[in-house]
Amino acid sequence: MTAKGSAQKARELEKRLTSRSNARRSWQRRMALVASTALSELIVRLIEISVALAVTLLAFVPVLLCRLAVQLPAGKPVFVKRTVFGCSGKPLTLLSFSGLSGGMATLPWFLELFTGRLALAGTAIRDWQPSAPAPEQGYISMVKPGIISLWSVRQSSRIAHEGREATEWEYIFSKHPVYDFLLILRALPAMLFSEGQSASNEIFELLGLKIDNMTMSDAIGMMRQALVEKRQSAIFFVNPDCLNQSITERDYRKALTAADRILPDGIGLVIAGKLLGTPLRENINGTDMLPFLCTMAAAEKLSIFLLGGKPGRAEMTGDAISQNYGVAIAGAMHGYFDHERESTAVIEAINSSKASILLVAFGAPLQEKWIVRHRAALRPTILMGVGGLFDFYSGNIKRAPRWMREIGLEWVYRIMQEPGRMWKRYVVGNPLFLYRVMKWKVLERSSITERTTENHGTRSDCPA
Ligand code: UDP
Repeated sequence: MTAKGSAQKARELEKRLTSRSNARRSWQRRMALVASTALSELIVRLIEISVALAVTLLAFVPVLLCRLAVQLPAGKPVFVKRTVFGCSGKPLTLLSFSGLSGGMATLPWFLELFTGRLALAGTAIRDWQPSAPAPEQGYISMVKPGIISLWSVRQSSRIAHEGREATEWEYIFSKHPVYDFLLILRALPAMLFSEGQSASNEIFELLGLKIDNMTMSDAIGMMRQALVEKRQSAIFFVNPDCLNQSITERDYRKALTAADRILPDGIGLVIAGKLLGTPLRENINGTDMLPFLCTMAAAEKLSIFLLGGKPGRAEMTGDAISQNYGVAIAGAMHGYFDHERESTAVIEAINSSKASILLVAFGAPLQEKWIVRHRAALRPTILMGVGGLFDFYSGNIKRAPRWMREIGLEWVYRIMQEPGRMWKRYVVGNPLFLYRVMKWKVLERSSITERTTENHGTRSDCPA
């Protein structure tokens, strides 16, 4: 054989061997994938069956016996039926304990973990509708519903601002046994904030202030209406730290009283709502609101002026939001000017920019007092205090990851980031706030309610 011929043969052999080993490798990869999927599904089923066993023995059976003892002698049913979307969009009838609410009522659902018709973590449970669902809804219904869902976790901590469908899609795209396991872990603390009763009160009275109890979409709708009517509105957010300050700072309290809207910011307000029997519709803060506000402003062709933060941060925030949401930025200015002497020039700059929305980020209570003091001179329709918003959007301070917000621990992340400045605000402030809420509930609520009816229309009924 010539040298050329043997080289050719060697190449052919090499090619044959490589293609065979590639085929073997891709076959092995496929087998490994099938095996790991089957194994993770088996582990998930084992976890589900163990949870179902534990809940059945420790909770379902004792509650069932109690319900039998209470309901049967009174001639009342022990269970109520609810038909929901099951897997693949088929109807599924679930039993709940009648006369109970929240997690206690839904204990019989855990029996469905044995049958495999419900998952422990899955898409949200939705009432069955015989009419054909929209194609996207149809796809969502293909995924098995779960006793725990991303939607239910976010609803518990009142941060499901994106709405049900978007949250379901987020879940479907993230779905994985490890993701489900972490979702189940998040559901345990989130359960502390969940509410059996639905939120009906439009005003949440807390420590003598009237806080607006609305969803994010209500808040955006309210602002759009004010913009259309050119009705100037001062909108402030309050968190537990703000409410603590409102007790000790008379001028801040006065500024809050002068607001057109006060919105509840933070898990502390959700807990206070639970303690006072006024469930919050949503936990709204400026950082979560900004994307919705910008989208609305862009659609209405209205511009925003950003005032506050360290030099450069308002500009960086303006660049980021105009790029992401297509909103027009009328102007941006830092917040470290002489608030006594230079405010007139700043107000002139804001007014000549023709902005419809002014975001003021000096932190509470400085921003609220500044807005109220100068609102007569300010031309923008929406005047909003937004705290450290520009620090987050300019990327200078990282915001807590979503999972920490879902379990109500955003404040822990803020302490970790700025321990020197934040520890007192949260470590001392949070228990103090809860103490004040309880004290107010016990000692002052009844007398304040009387004064409220006499003095209807102001946003504060409790002098500091
Ligand atoms: N700030 C300002 N001017 C001042 C004092 C503070 O612009 O005279 C800014 C500061 O740079 C920060 C924000 O106000 O961006 C306050 O942030 P903080 O995190 O305290 O506000 P929160 O959101 O907690 O109310």
